[in-house]
Amino acid sequence: MNLETLVTEYPQIKDLITEQPTFWRNPDYALKADLPFSKADIFDAVARLDRFAPYLAKVFPETMVTNGIIESPLISLDNMQTAWEQQNHHELAGHLYLKADSELPISGSIKSRGGIYEVLKFAEKIATTHGSLAYMDDYSVLATDEFRQLFADYGVIVASTGNLALSVGIVAATFGFETTVYMSHDARQWKKDRLRENGVTVKEFNTNFSAVIPKARADAALDPNIHFVDDEGSNDLFLGYAVAAVRLQKQLKEQQIKVDQDHPVIVYLPAGVGGSPSGVTFGLKTILGPHVHAIFCEPTHVPSVTLGMMTKLNDQISVYDIGLDGLTAADGLAVGRPSRLAGKVMRTLLFGSVTFPDNDIYRYVAQLQDTQDIIVEPSAAAGFTGIAPTIKNMPAFNTQNATHIVWATGGSMMPQSEREANYAKGQQLLHQPKKVLI
Ligand SMILES: *Cc1c(COP(=O)(O)O)cnc(C)c1O
Repeated sequence: MNLETLVTEYPQIKDLITEQPTFWRNPDYALKADLPFSKADIFDAVARLDRFAPYLAKVFPETMVTNGIIESPLISLDNMQTAWEQQNHHELAGHLYLKADSELPISGSIKSRGGIYEVLKFAEKIATTHGSLAYMDDYSVLATDEFRQLFADYGVIVASTGNLALSVGIVAATFGFETTVYMSHDARQWKKDRLRENGVTVKEFNTNFSAVIPKARADAALDPNIHFVDDEGSNDLFLGYAVAAVRLQKQLKEQQIKVDQDHPVIVYLPAGVGGSPSGVTFGLKTILGPHVHAIFCEPTHVPSVTLGMMTKLNDQISVYDIGLDGLTAADGLAVGRPSRLAGKVMRTLLFGSVTFPDNDIYRYVAQLQDTQDIIVEPSAAAGFTGIAPTIKNMPAFNTQNATHIVWATGGSMMPQSEREANYAKGQQLLHQPKKVLI
């Protein structure tokens, strides 16, 4: 791949190379395409999560109130909307909501969808093929010694910048699997500590995620009893994320939020490797149809999915190839090479993407806490950065009938010291003059 040729063909790469905040509109949006998954795949995942609900309610008491279903609230953000308008000097005509995956049980992040789902699927396979589990059993039986002993003969390996390791690690270790996580240099210390407390082996690496994941994959391949959770291309992760759409459909209905030609819904999703936002977007487009539009949000230093999709090279290009350092305070988004799956499935489903400087997300972290008393981690505030560039480029989305949903992807498990440090940084930035985006 020759960079000069790429820049000639896709001039907007210059914005990425120079770390300019940018809005990329996907030219292939809404074209016809064959997709590798169907609605039936989503409902297969829904049914599996339902089968495991009695197990989850038993071993993770925090899921007892929802009978073992892992779900997050959809929250109306009236005060935050006012703050957003003041900060951006622009009216947001529709309504602003937060899909608070930051409050998902077990990992406190969106990884409680895909990561946990993949471990459940692996456990079900072992328990039905090598153990006595029948599909119609009460799955809480999997918490007994009989099954724990069975699971101890098997292992799970995952590489992560932090949150995927938390979700996969905690659940896999709870089943009794021999569990090892490979952590990149950006992984927070508290996440490693939390995993070790849960009996997970943590291997620490001084390199970025894209360099760590091949090591984990190679080690997992040495033992047929080890399952590798592949963040760069797993179908199970993808479908676990997609289930969010079925749950959101119900929440939209309950809150009387319409989705149709005259009532567009715009969803803003932080993207790292691109797996979680793509899984969610595939689900939304499949379940809710053409009037829901997804925008991915990435740091200017790590626009991996945007670069891959813009050039159509997907996982064949990384941000390092265009001279970026791949460094960001948003550890959940610190992935320089996109997943093999994301760009391909998103080619016709993603409306567009934006890139933002790190400082913007700290401001939104502080604002969200001030106005709504909701605490998220820096990565999880990225969705707020997508609104201004999107309505600027698509004035049709700035109507009274529009619903803007910021997907808050993580944060409820952060220790108090992290929360305070993030808030303080955001407050400080809020008091400095900021260039106006619109
Ligand atoms: C993982 C993660 C993301 C991005 O998900 P990808 O699948 O890597 O694109 C965003 N925010 C948080 C908090 C995350 O943990």
